[in-house]
Amino acid sequence: MYYALPIFVGTIPLRVIVYCAVSTSAALAVWWGVRRNRPEPRAPWVVLGLSQLVYALADTTFYVSHYVLNETSYPSVADAFYLGHYPLVVAGLVMLIRQRRSDRDLPGLLDAVSLTVVAGLLSWVFVIGPQTRLGTPLLVEMASLAYPLMDLVLLLVSLRLLFGGGRRDASFVLLALWLAAILTADTVYVLQRLDLSYEAGNFLDAIWLTGNLALGACALHPSMGRMAQAVDVPALRLSWPRLAILSAGALIGPLVLFVQHFNGVRRDVPVIAVGCAVLFALTATRLAGLAVDQRRLAITDSLTRLRSRRYFEARLADEVARARRAGSPLGVVILDVDRFKSINDRFGHPAGDRVLVEVANRLRAVAGEERVLARYGGEEFALIATGADADNLNRLAERLRHGVSHHPIAVSGRRSVTVTLSAGTAAFAPHYGTASALVSAADRALYLAKDLGRDRAVAGGTSLTEHREDVAVDYLNQVADLVDLRVASPGRSLAIAEWARTVAERLKRTPGEIRTVHRAGRLLDVGMIVLPDDLLTESGPLTDQQWHLLHEHPDSGARMVGVLPDHGEVAEVIRQHHERWDGAGYPAGLTRDAIRVEARILSVCDAWAAMRADRPHRRALTHEHAVRELRSGRGARFDPELVDVFLELLDEGAVGDLVVGPASAREDSRLS
Ligand code: GH3
Ligand code: MG
Ligand code: MG
Repeated sequence: MYYALPIFVGTIPLRVIVYCAVSTSAALAVWWGVRRNRPEPRAPWVVLGLSQLVYALADTTFYVSHYVLNETSYPSVADAFYLGHYPLVVAGLVMLIRQRRSDRDLPGLLDAVSLTVVAGLLSWVFVIGPQTRLGTPLLVEMASLAYPLMDLVLLLVSLRLLFGGGRRDASFVLLALWLAAILTADTVYVLQRLDLSYEAGNFLDAIWLTGNLALGACALHPSMGRMAQAVDVPALRLSWPRLAILSAGALIGPLVLFVQHFNGVRRDVPVIAVGCAVLFALTATRLAGLAVDQRRLAITDSLTRLRSRRYFEARLADEVARARRAGSPLGVVILDVDRFKSINDRFGHPAGDRVLVEVANRLRAVAGEERVLARYGGEEFALIATGADADNLNRLAERLRHGVSHHPIAVSGRRSVTVTLSAGTAAFAPHYGTASALVSAADRALYLAKDLGRDRAVAGGTSLTEHREDVAVDYLNQVADLVDLRVASPGRSLAIAEWARTVAERLKRTPGEIRTVHRAGRLLDVGMIVLPDDLLTESGPLTDQQWHLLHEHPDSGARMVGVLPDHGEVAEVIRQHHERWDGAGYPAGLTRDAIRVEARILSVCDAWAAMRADRPHRRALTHEHAVRELRSGRGARFDPELVDVFLELLDEGAVGDLVVGPASAREDSRLS
């Protein structure tokens, strides 16, 4: 419509009125948009609206002086308004950018600066340099330089806005369109001014008009009210398009140099060289930032922001080596939240996550920034205490525990829970032990703290008492081997332990349960060592006395195992491994869920091992027969779900093989 209009109708400058009405309408639209869409905060939009008002003033001044007064001097009052509108636009955009990101977004800034340097380079070679060589009067030269310089600043801010992430609603796209229009039209305008081809009312007006309409539409669109909302942008993203743009930008310097070389122009070489050097420095900084972020991410737990387990293990190995060299004290504390599962059950998993974060924060506050504090597992935390001997270590563990439990943690709404921790500590004895010995000593101490009733710290240590315990474990393993030999199934308990662990892992049971079921599987029948030979090997009906003896073996086994410091749960599982799902088992006649899940798993594995082994008085059942037997025990002797899982694993070849490979045998030597 603008171009179809005659410039004058009678004496009325019609085009001028339409043009100025459009730029003024954008300012009014921003004012109206602020009232209608209630952006929060309002300040950026007020400033942007103001900038548009100044711009409309500039347009009016320019066209009135140009068409009505026939005044063509350059620069004119209009240029003062035009130039004055840039700082306002920039200020408004900067305010928006700061609202849209909660962090400082250094990578985004670096990328924006890089591309602006590229644009600046081109601007120098093709606009600014030629302008300074024209020898125009000072005022003309200053105005002509001010436009490209303002455009560079505007470009920098626009790119920052674009790279900053955040919501990309319709109004954001329109805002970007407005900025693109200003920058494009300005660039062409400056170039046309330079070769004196600019004529008022040429096609550039179309671009400026489009820009103004875009700003108006942007302000009126309902999504404008949300544009300043901050969003969390995932760290460490360098998208392929952005990488491509940055790489292409970095190549422009050499490309211009190349072109100039062919044209025999050498005057811009120093500027281009400096530009390339700056770009290189920016790129190197950007890459260094990526590497630092990558490392931070790799060693940080995403939920709690504590160190990751991987970092903990690497640092502990270093610290142990140092402690060994220097003979200095060193300790670790492992803490596990008590009954955390019940927090998840009562308040839901997300609330559980929030509790974990708060626990981590409280631990961090006690431990201080310098100490390595890691999330060691789901709700387990581990701390390296350099320079702490056994006494310090226990005080530290108590301080950590108290720091978490001293007041309740708010969960959801008004509800809160008091969270307690159990802790195991281990002090490193110089010239003895390794990092893994230290951790497993602390882990065993933690296990013991749980067994003793939770909410306490127990000191472990790579000391002789620990060693003695290992001897006891080895001894019980030998008893288990002996029982296996007596029932003529060598390797049976190793196999059962492995299968049981595999089943528990498939069921995604907790690490504690997996450990327990594995240990209990290995020591399942140590109680049988007291049974007479005839009972183990003879067939035929049993006498009452034989029945009585046989029914005692879970209890005797549990007693034998239970004397070990951290084997309370293992003993309980052994006691229950002949209980039946339907309640017809022994010794207590427990039913269903009242039987520990580890014991229910072992019951299935034990039955399979018994059916598939040759015994003195009978041949092994065939595979198919044994499968049928297991199936028929679903819901009677066995937990039906566990039978299904076992059969599934059997199909996959993951369990059921009576010959246990060397790996598991090796591992078992320490009941790891
Ligand atoms: P206790 O340690 O006192 O023996 O009891 P517990 O209930 O804490 O038992 P356990 O250590 O076996 O179970 C830990 C539970 O922690 C299991 C799992 O559901 C939960 N958990 C593990 N990681 C996370 C996590 O990242 N978020 C949430 N919400 N829960 C987790
Ligand atoms: Mg726990
Ligand atoms: Mg745990």
